[in-house]
Amino acid sequence: MTTLASNGKLRPLASPTSGQESAQPTGSRKTAMTLSLYNTLSGKKEPFVPADPDRVTYYVCGPTVYNYVHIGNARSATVFDLLYRLLCQLYPNVIFARNITDVDDKINASAKAEGIDIKTYTETFTRAYQEDMAALGNKTPSLQPKATEHIEQIIDIIRRLIERGHAYESDGHVLFAVESMENYGRLSHRKLDDMLAGARVEVADYKQNPMDFVLWKPSTDDLPGWDSPWGRGRPGWHIECTAMIMHHLGETIDIHGGGTDLVFPHHENEIAQGVCCVPDSQGYVRYWVHNAMLDVEGEKMSKSLGNFIVLRDLLKTQPGELVRLVLLSAHYRSRLNWSGQLLQQSRQTLDRLYTLMRDSQNLTAIEPTDPLACEGMIALLDDLNTPRALAALHDLSNRFFKSQDDDERARLKGEVLLLTDTLGLLQQDPESWFKGDAQSEEGPSEAEIEQRIADRIAAKKAKNFALADKIRDDLLVDGIVIQDTREGTRWSREV
Ligand SMILES: [Zn+2]
Repeated sequence: MTTLASNGKLRPLASPTSGQESAQPTGSRKTAMTLSLYNTLSGKKEPFVPADPDRVTYYVCGPTVYNYVHIGNARSATVFDLLYRLLCQLYPNVIFARNITDVDDKINASAKAEGIDIKTYTETFTRAYQEDMAALGNKTPSLQPKATEHIEQIIDIIRRLIERGHAYESDGHVLFAVESMENYGRLSHRKLDDMLAGARVEVADYKQNPMDFVLWKPSTDDLPGWDSPWGRGRPGWHIECTAMIMHHLGETIDIHGGGTDLVFPHHENEIAQGVCCVPDSQGYVRYWVHNAMLDVEGEKMSKSLGNFIVLRDLLKTQPGELVRLVLLSAHYRSRLNWSGQLLQQSRQTLDRLYTLMRDSQNLTAIEPTDPLACEGMIALLDDLNTPRALAALHDLSNRFFKSQDDDERARLKGEVLLLTDTLGLLQQDPESWFKGDAQSEEGPSEAEIEQRIADRIAAKKAKNFALADKIRDDLLVDGIVIQDTREGTRWSREV
């Protein structure tokens, strides 16, 4: 729940007044808009009301650091960065944790295949992930806890689950007993009996029920392992998130995010662990938010189809901000169809917005008096409706380019900036955008272009117009468009 502080920033209301106009002592129109989120648990869009508006707790499953991430991973991280930016505008203190899974069988296998020790291997990919996220303009979370730094907390939760009759030791493993829990399957809306009927689960002698999942497993000497009451071993995949959430954020948190591919079994099992390890649990997570997957040119992205796009490779030829806009262009609960055409359209959108910024460099933006009443913000608060917010942005820029009135243009610029700041766009100087500083471009270097433009100016001064025209045409052949303005010659690389 939010209202406006006198400085025009958004701040939370002390008590929720869902969807109502807040009472204001002055005559100014100020809106109390609610953020609404689709909660996978209830299967409905719900108003978001944090348990404590002064400490909003938010967790997103991060990467398993064994390779470079693909654009599907990037979509999830970017969607949840947008939610983080929005929450930070609404609440004074948002604690956002995104974990690093640095103990995992895939890591062990890949590091062994490459002949690199596991720590060096995971540190390399952790750094790469953080660089890639920064290139997309994703903010650094408040916390980035690592699984290997929380083994003590993991062991403690497993111990509590055993004590409370929800887990058992068997053949060096500790397993969660799904039948010990009421409503196992509540998040994925499945019943245990149905799961068993159609399950392709691993049947192992040491499991009481085939759906029981591993909390702890034994490690051989050549694998990472820690001493525990159940022998030397390592954690199963699901337990780390529960341990880190409980340690850093609390027994029940406001929002947990992740891709729809994590609903089952990962998040279902997180709930089982989180609810069963404490007495009188409040449910572990209040709002479960999941983003849909991504296709490439209409097909599922897969290595076998040869359409697998690694983010790091893409960033060699495309600016991070462009990739960000493409990733936000579809609603997060719809599949995103990545395509060359979408990339092209998104580049035009950014070119247009940066042109607006360049054309209005001498115009001071007027901040909206009621930010939450802006069309684009209303759309974002409505379950992160980015397509509607981007349409509003398009409309604002149309109006800006049509307007002759500086006052109106300053207000439109203010609204554009409010929206682009929230979306994490327009984060660079217009000149660097057009000159392509952020990407490795083919063609002449910036210094070379500047020199040729200087030569052209000199030619014009000497009234050698044939030479000036030739320089302009040659630049165009190299993909450089020049434009003479009152402020001098501008140039940009052609798309
Ligand atoms: Zn997780």
